[in-house]
Amino acid sequence: MSSPLLNGSTVPHLMRAVTTATAAGAARLAAADIPHSPADHDQLRSMFDRVDLNEHLRDLDSAIDEIDRLWLQHAVWFHHPQAIAHLNCPVALPAVAADALAATVNTSMDTWDQSKGATLIERKILAWTAEQIGFPREADGMFTPGGTTSNLQALMLARDESLEASGRIPGAAPRPVRAARLRILASAESHFSVVTAARILGLDDDAVVTVPVDADGRMCVAALNELVNGLEQQGLTALAVVATAGTTDRGVVDPLDEIAALCRTHKVWLHVDGAYGGGLLASTRHRGKLAGIQHADSVTIDFHKTWFQPVSCSVVMVREGRTLRHCTHHAAYLNPADTPEPNQVDRSLQTTRRFDALKIWLTLRTLGAEVIGDMLDQVIELAQQVADTLEQDPRFELVCRPSLSTVLFRWLPSDGTPPDDLVRAIRRRVWESGHATIAETVIEGRPCLKITLLNPEATHADVMSVMTLIHRAGQSLLAPSATYREAAV
Ligand SMILES: *Cc1c(COP(=O)(O)O)cnc(C)c1O
Repeated sequence: MSSPLLNGSTVPHLMRAVTTATAAGAARLAAADIPHSPADHDQLRSMFDRVDLNEHLRDLDSAIDEIDRLWLQHAVWFHHPQAIAHLNCPVALPAVAADALAATVNTSMDTWDQSKGATLIERKILAWTAEQIGFPREADGMFTPGGTTSNLQALMLARDESLEASGRIPGAAPRPVRAARLRILASAESHFSVVTAARILGLDDDAVVTVPVDADGRMCVAALNELVNGLEQQGLTALAVVATAGTTDRGVVDPLDEIAALCRTHKVWLHVDGAYGGGLLASTRHRGKLAGIQHADSVTIDFHKTWFQPVSCSVVMVREGRTLRHCTHHAAYLNPADTPEPNQVDRSLQTTRRFDALKIWLTLRTLGAEVIGDMLDQVIELAQQVADTLEQDPRFELVCRPSLSTVLFRWLPSDGTPPDDLVRAIRRRVWESGHATIAETVIEGRPCLKITLLNPEATHADVMSVMTLIHRAGQSLLAPSATYREAAV
């Protein structure tokens, strides 16, 4: 029997194995005329319950057949124009190839002696990203599995800069006592990962101070100023302000220039969470929305959202590369301090780490950043067109004008039922049909429906047929006896 491992003699098996697996996925992808099958949790669960992992199927073909039946047949397809629930995007082809290539080589990014050129590719992509932000030459950054981790790493650096500065005072209190005085200021619409980060970082329960937003959902700078002054008066320390460039719901960009000026005055670290809005860096039409981002101390960008990259691919960028030293630990067996070549583990919260930079490299070298920016421009334009239509349509209420590519709205029942009461049920009914995926959220205390457009090939008609589905779902809820029929897609 040949080796089960990938090596020089099993390369023909690699080609066959990868083709078998990719072909199974590709066949389902090509056949996906709706975003997902209507199979529900109970049906899928009973299929999985019958699988005994202690028995194996002996060959890959059988295992792939099983996976096809268990998973692929019912997968959710993000290339489908009516999969518009979340920030998961259709992916750029060169990036998918990059993932297959990275798995073949199985590079780990922690040390030079496991990566060589891969480290240089990663460092060049990070330097390029810093340039796009407008950071100075001393900037650096690190790939992470997602915006949640990027935000955590940024806030950890901010915390340690702050603790280090206060620790220099003679007779300073011990570290946990100083940490208990630290506060993070983030708007009410910032991502929940900011609160998670504060907990992981061992800060106080009330460490995250909520800054009010204006009517559009943008951080209110006057309120921020008052809060920062208030903290100083109470002897507390603002360790960071988190501004969001592209809030997850309304897609708004906080006023970065003004917030940056305030942070400079008060000597507070500015972190810009651009997990969603980071794609604007590549946009020729909308780059201006990020004005001021170059003044940040750290920036999160999710390439796996608005840069059309496969999960996972995110970076945390820092204006001063030396702040990454707070992540450095020199292990004698791995990355001794005196090695002449760069060991990327010195800058990361991870040790063994995927080579996600290859996706960006192949995307830039094959397509260029402009193509990415144009695709984002198209979904921003589509969101505007959809909003225009909803404003004219008496069946719907637009909650606010879109800023990026999300659209927030409610279906208006004709019988006077409060629209808020139907949001959850409409979403579920649309989901159960398999013909579209949409999301729900709460804006200013009121539930609403939400779509996130990330498919540049989706048309206005595609989105409108989802609206028809929503309308029919709503009607069927009002008249439970009528059978619910999906819109023609
Ligand atoms: C998606 C998102 C995150 C979290 O990023 P993940 O990649 O899902 O971990 C953080 N902040 C904002 C604004 C987001 O939209």
